[in-house]
Amino acid sequence: MAIHRTPAIVIGRRELGESDRLVDFYTLEFGKLRGVAKAARRARSRFGSALELFTLGELVFFDTGRSELVRVDHFDIVTPFVGLREHLERLGQGAWAIECVARLSADRDPHPALFRLLVRDLRALEGSGRPAWISVCFALRAVDLLGHRPRIDRCLACRRAYPFAEPVLDIALGGLVCALCTPGADALPVSGAVVGVLTRLRGLRWDEALRLTLAPSLDREVGVLVEGLIARLVGQPPRASRFLGQVRRSLSRVAEPPAPRVRR
Ligand SMILES: [Zn+2]
Repeated sequence: MAIHRTPAIVIGRRELGESDRLVDFYTLEFGKLRGVAKAARRARSRFGSALELFTLGELVFFDTGRSELVRVDHFDIVTPFVGLREHLERLGQGAWAIECVARLSADRDPHPALFRLLVRDLRALEGSGRPAWISVCFALRAVDLLGHRPRIDRCLACRRAYPFAEPVLDIALGGLVCALCTPGADALPVSGAVVGVLTRLRGLRWDEALRLTLAPSLDREVGVLVEGLIARLVGQPPRASRFLGQVRRSLSRVAEPPAPRVRR
């Protein structure tokens, strides 16, 4: 039975049996791992509050080699990212990011650059007033790292160089398709302005990308495209997207002035 130590982020957890916890980690050295934390739900568990969602820590685990599940020996908190849990939009965007990583990566397939990107994303979300934009920057980089970077320099059907009118993004094909060619049924419409933003973001460092500001309508358009891109790569919209939609709807209701009362 081998013992290992690696930096890891808690990306999911659920109860197991009477007092144990099943925990999903995204780790630097082993990629996605699922572990059993014995007695983690007991009042005086040695894990304390370490196994909360988003927590970055040092994971020590036993790999029996007999099961996909590892045994969590301990998990020492490095950064708990508590700021994410105190703000609904940040919480939702953090959940969205870890769901993207969980669904787009296979078990035990290490990707150190993606791990570091996720840490940077959670760190940025914790302090930012623009969590949705951080998710856009994160998702586009994650997609690139995982080998799904869309080609936006030419039509992938007829090889015509971009720019051309009425481009669509065909995820299955892997990039833009022009109006003269026939894209796949689930291709996403994309404006020239959005293609411009995608091109620009590819030339920027992470911190520069986070500082970029767009007109609100273009910002929304990029957000919709990224959501569509992730949903198609994953095979369905992330669950966190629905949560974010509900948060926004309820916050907008709170912000609306109450309807005037009618006097009888
Ligand atoms: Zn074409």
